[in-house]
Amino acid sequence: MTLRVNGTRLHADFMALSEIGATGDGGVHRPALSEAHLEARKWFRERVAEARLEFRMDGAGNHSAFLACGPADAPTLLLGSHLDSVRHGGRFDGPLGVLAALEILRVVQEAGIRLPVHLEAIDFTDEEGALLGELGSAALVGALTAEALREPRGGRAALETGLNRAGLTEAGVLTACRDPATLVGYLELHIEQGSRLIDAQADIGVVTSIAGICSYRLAFIGQAAHAGTTSMTDRRDAALGASAFALAAREVVLRDFPDCVANVGEMCFAPGSFNVVPAQVTLALEFRAPESELFQQLERALLEQAQAEADRFGLGLEADLLGQIDPTPMSASAQRACIEAADALGLKHVSLPSGAGHDAQMLARVCPAGMIFVPSVRGFSHSPREFSRWVDCVNGANVLLQAALRMAPEGD
Ligand SMILES: [Zn+2]
Repeated sequence: MTLRVNGTRLHADFMALSEIGATGDGGVHRPALSEAHLEARKWFRERVAEARLEFRMDGAGNHSAFLACGPADAPTLLLGSHLDSVRHGGRFDGPLGVLAALEILRVVQEAGIRLPVHLEAIDFTDEEGALLGELGSAALVGALTAEALREPRGGRAALETGLNRAGLTEAGVLTACRDPATLVGYLELHIEQGSRLIDAQADIGVVTSIAGICSYRLAFIGQAAHAGTTSMTDRRDAALGASAFALAAREVVLRDFPDCVANVGEMCFAPGSFNVVPAQVTLALEFRAPESELFQQLERALLEQAQAEADRFGLGLEADLLGQIDPTPMSASAQRACIEAADALGLKHVSLPSGAGHDAQMLARVCPAGMIFVPSVRGFSHSPREFSRWVDCVNGANVLLQAALRMAPEGD
């Protein structure tokens, strides 16, 4: 199969879409279900109609182009990503995967190929989390609950406003669940959002897993005291434990946990004044690991380190687990299809885990899921500086096409 995407047409689409919600500095501002996001979706619907593909939308607002290229009762291979962005984000994160998926449907349609499956190019609602995060994909796999909608991370008001603007309802969102038997797999093309592919001088990344994320609130508890009259040796200074932990967490990860990361994103000092030794410092800890055993080892190591730093400065420690999402391995068959596709195209590929969350981790719950990364110049993402070379984007789209054909070999 020598089928290739039309890189010129794909580029024209990409440039046109990048104008919607453009921020003037090379980026876009299209939070989920904002006016700009809905305009991008309208633009997508027009492209679907122009290509004479079938347009579909479910109760969660997920937008799809559908190509019936298999037998009537065939399952569907989903290809896609998201058209929403973070606030003042980049042009590539999400749209590349949706536009490549759409282009693949056009190419297969034009070639008149029959497959054992149907193809669907999908734009998932709210991947980035302005409202809830991976809302559309969670709804599609049946992982979304009414409770989750009651306390969305973006707040109730934002969710209600967004749903109203898009003509959606909460009850409708919960109807988007599909029967897994109708899905044969999911493939997503995405920018890497890091610099490992550039460092490895690779064209393509084949994603092995999507990192698990765990968040804790840690409280180092000391004793308030007069900052002028209490000797340095008599203090139980909560700031020292918290600060020492932030530095030590970095060392622990660098030393023992390759492919993992840890972040202390916030510290709150109480009572918080110039002349009082801090009685308590609470900090926000997040860490990520690509596979389960490592995830548990990292959690243990970080909590032990926190306890050691608390002991060192005579402090108490309280650890509250706030949330945890387990690592999600990508399917072996999807990874194989992506590797074979890259090999067939003569592209240098490396296998690597994703540190960022993606809709693929939701889809992996119900069908074989895989992801293809293309290099991000200097690793910038969630920023107007986000950039990928177009030749790499086209390579990625061709790998997506060839991997899709391998997951759905040509019918008889
Ligand atoms: Zn994304």
